[in-house]
Amino acid sequence: MALTGVQIFKLLPKTNCKKCGFPTCLAFAMKLAQGGVELSACPDVSEEAKKTLGEASAPPIRSFSLGAGDKAVKMGGENVLFRHDKKFINPCALAINIKDNLSDDELTHKATEIVNSEIDRVGQKLRVDAISIEYASGDRTKYEAAVRLVAEKAPDAAIILNCKDAAAAETAVKAIASRQPLIYCATDVNAEEMANIAKASGVPLCASAQGLEALSALTEKIKGLGVEDIVLDFGAKTAKEIIEHNTQIRRSALKKSFKPLGYPIINFVLRDNPIYEASIASIAIAKYASIVVLSSIEKWKNLALFTLRQNLYTDPQVPMQVEQKIYDIGEPNADSPLMITTNFSLTYFIVSGEIENSRVPSRLAVMDCEGLSVLTAWAAGKFTAAKIAQFIKESGVEGNVSHNEIIIPGQVAILSGALEDKLEGWKITVGPREANAIPTFLKGRSS
Ligand code: SF4
Repeated sequence: MALTGVQIFKLLPKTNCKKCGFPTCLAFAMKLAQGGVELSACPDVSEEAKKTLGEASAPPIRSFSLGAGDKAVKMGGENVLFRHDKKFINPCALAINIKDNLSDDELTHKATEIVNSEIDRVGQKLRVDAISIEYASGDRTKYEAAVRLVAEKAPDAAIILNCKDAAAAETAVKAIASRQPLIYCATDVNAEEMANIAKASGVPLCASAQGLEALSALTEKIKGLGVEDIVLDFGAKTAKEIIEHNTQIRRSALKKSFKPLGYPIINFVLRDNPIYEASIASIAIAKYASIVVLSSIEKWKNLALFTLRQNLYTDPQVPMQVEQKIYDIGEPNADSPLMITTNFSLTYFIVSGEIENSRVPSRLAVMDCEGLSVLTAWAAGKFTAAKIAQFIKESGVEGNVSHNEIIIPGQVAILSGALEDKLEGWKITVGPREANAIPTFLKGRSS
């Protein structure tokens, strides 16, 4: 049964040493009770307390990594059903399924596509995170060779060994053990063999069964065999099954503290039609999957799924923002234009992208408005003439420009008069209302 924060507090050292990152032991205990931190964050907790707290202090959904190294994907650890309650924590991994009976050239091509899938969107690097290598050949030697080749060509991707043949899986795990592959999967038939392989190499294991009752029994069996890091697959195929079963699993883990289903979920959404596949994948991403396996990688599909995933896994209470400062775009000199905007990430990346497109070296003054966009910040009284003037004066940009001219967003043209009063000696120019007009605007000024 889950313990309350006060019950946990009684078992902590009560020194308020802050080594866990919390100001007091009580604050740490409260967070631990909510599943928002792990007991191991307190280095001074006694062995006796560890034993007593045991599973009661573990997060309701077990958390561990898919893959190894800098790009390993943390999974699980979620503690809310709805994003508006609190943020979702670990973005789901996107994986591509590759069959081992492809030629070496085709395998290399697919692995390279995955390596090259990374894009930069509003300051975050987004990519296809994992490769599922399917044992389609029925030839263990071929499978091992394919696994080695793909692992070599995609050195940062997490690997899922999609193989129900225990002997083939064992050889493949040994070949790339340092990559911490996920074995997919243990079934009622091979659970013992697969659990022994996973336990021996310390890698996670997927439990696969039809229906939640059978799946719960299987995870209990695997756990009893010594495997802690388990991924759930209940064989969902349709969008309806994914929504229903993923929700039941999340609800059981969070609301009923039902440990046999307290693990990350994998959904295979392979379809011949890429639009249909992207639709099903988006449902799995939105409804609690930790790994979504696709059949193909197209740029349009990646962009749609990356964007959905990124937006679902931001904190709804904390707008995405960038640092307040004067950003150089290109190599501006003293005569280069100076523009100003707010520090909402999306605003910054769109405006800076359009300035880059113009190829006119410029300075962009980005003002801290608590992550609000231009119009919202203006309406909230955070992007006012007085505040802009103060920011510009304190930024020191005056010493770097010869012209003392600042270009404000067209949407707040209304500020120009007041800003002229507050920023004495400066010329205020009203820029375009929409960012996509910036290139024409800047080129027109420099010609
Ligand atoms: Fe308390 Fe442990 Fe945190 Fe120190 S590290 S404040 S002892 S919970």
